[in-house]
Amino acid sequence: MNTYFKALKTILEGKDAITFFSGAGLSVSSGLPDFRGDKDGFWKSNTPVHFSDFIKDPISRNKSWQNNLAIHSKISGAEPSRMHKLINSLINRNTDNFHITQNIDGLHKNTENPNNILELHGNIFRCGCLNCGFEAPTLEFYEKYKNEEDFTCPACSKGYIKVKTISFGQSLDQNVLSIAHRVSEQAKYFVAMGSSLKVSPANSFIKVAKANKAKIIILNKDKTPFDDYADIVINDYLENIYEQIK
Ligand SMILES: [Zn+2]
Repeated sequence: MNTYFKALKTILEGKDAITFFSGAGLSVSSGLPDFRGDKDGFWKSNTPVHFSDFIKDPISRNKSWQNNLAIHSKISGAEPSRMHKLINSLINRNTDNFHITQNIDGLHKNTENPNNILELHGNIFRCGCLNCGFEAPTLEFYEKYKNEEDFTCPACSKGYIKVKTISFGQSLDQNVLSIAHRVSEQAKYFVAMGSSLKVSPANSFIKVAKANKAKIIILNKDKTPFDDYADIVINDYLENIYEQIK
């Protein structure tokens, strides 16, 4: 076994806190397309709705819902990959391990330790009111209220109901951001996988970890702007990397 794989396996099997950070590449190993990337072309045929338009206009709200429902149907049926399962088994073994993800597909879900998963861009399976605390499963809400004139909250009658994915122009959840920041500070190892690390603020966590002397590991098919400052870099598909460390 190559020394990098050996070192990675030792880190994963150790007791020190690991913060995982994942992007679309992790779900590609479950057969999903990269929705933000060009290859699938999803956003070429489905115009994204800016958050400010969602607020302003009922047609945009409907368009946003239709986009999310289309993604929902594309990802339903996908199963967590072996890498998803490996991350969750490491979290369940040591709850100082956390997983920050940019993915909205829920494949990273951990039922035993749900609070150890930090979804930066929200998730597609739930929707909620932008005004009050009302929340519901996305499809259930849609089926019940799709014939209404607009996506108005049934609880407060004031706010709009939006799928809990973060839209272009919408702020990330401050609570999720601050926990993600904290667990990046505390990590002894920061393992970024399946992310190009090009988008801010997502790529800020690797800097926080580095500033707090974490060892940095980057697992990604392509090179990233942070490769020079990592301790271990493996450029390959995650399923191939998994094969080497299982
Ligand atoms: Zn409400």
